[in-house]
Amino acid sequence: MTDTSAGVSELHWLMDMLQTVDVGLVVVNVDYRIQLWNGFMENHSGLMPRQVRDCYLFDLFPEIDEDWLRRKCDPVILLKNRAFTIWEQRPFIFRFKNYRPITGSADFMYQNSTIFPITDTRGNVSHLCFIIYDVTDAAVSKLALQSMNGQLRQLSTTDYLTQMRNRSHWEESLKQEFLRLQRYSQHQSTLIICDLDHFKRINDTYGHAAGDLVIKTAADIIRKSLRATDIAGRYGGESFAILLLDTTADQADYLAERIRRKIAQSELKFNEHAITFTMSFGLAERNQDIQDYIQWIEAAEKALFTSKAQGRNQVSRFKVDV
Ligand code: GH3
Ligand code: MG
Repeated sequence: MTDTSAGVSELHWLMDMLQTVDVGLVVVNVDYRIQLWNGFMENHSGLMPRQVRDCYLFDLFPEIDEDWLRRKCDPVILLKNRAFTIWEQRPFIFRFKNYRPITGSADFMYQNSTIFPITDTRGNVSHLCFIIYDVTDAAVSKLALQSMNGQLRQLSTTDYLTQMRNRSHWEESLKQEFLRLQRYSQHQSTLIICDLDHFKRINDTYGHAAGDLVIKTAADIIRKSLRATDIAGRYGGESFAILLLDTTADQADYLAERIRRKIAQSELKFNEHAITFTMSFGLAERNQDIQDYIQWIEAAEKALFTSKAQGRNQVSRFKVDV
């Protein structure tokens, strides 16, 4: 075989490989007109190489964000760098349908891509080559895992009956906020701990299911009374804790009084019964004597104890000499 015929047959193999390789290969000139379109691209787009040849990429695929892709490609042309796109940033460059049986849950093919420069004999960038990788299987598995982790996190931090933070999650939030307040905030914040009165009687009289409904109703009233920045949680069986950021004891007192009234006025229909219930509140404003979040909880609990001792269905503030 002569050198020329060897060269031609090597080129032939190379073209065969480009056609059959299981990644997308697209070459465009610096005006983004398509010069090469391999078998992968043909199979997934339904467009044959002769149909796309010399077409302007962004006309043919209007779903591609032109500004974004040009920003990616500019350094490839100017600095001869490589560029990469990953599905986590943008799910795909070319919107292809996903036909894979295993990852049938995805409507489209997730893609990573590499973009590299092709230079002419003088070393100037004359073309860009896009390599498109189908990463649908990996993307779908990762998304499923992330979604499952999210659900697990939600389950492990949320109280199922009231949908509020559970105790450990609420305490963790309080701990973090306490540290933040110590470092940065000149503002006052107030903690409220509240507890249903004579709740055991409700359980004993109407049954545990009625008790559950009372807890849920009280939680709904509390939640509807709060701002987005307030941090509420189910603190115990029939007690709740609320951290009010940037709130003085006077303001917290006003809020607690409003919740107390709403709860005292509500009437729950359960079977043929009309159940009424009340709640006691203790509140403690953060001050310099409170060294850590546990002392803050203890202060609010002391105030709650005062409300209970003084006859329940009332709001009390922590005082140092209580
Ligand atoms: P006090 O006014 O002093 O708070 O009296 P109380 O009866 O509310 O308090 P006590 O601690 O004596 O009783 C609370 C009861 O709440 C006991 C417990 O069985 C019940 N309880 C705790 N968690 C739940 C729950 O999730 N659902 C129901 N239905 N009852 C619960
Ligand atoms: Mg109670």
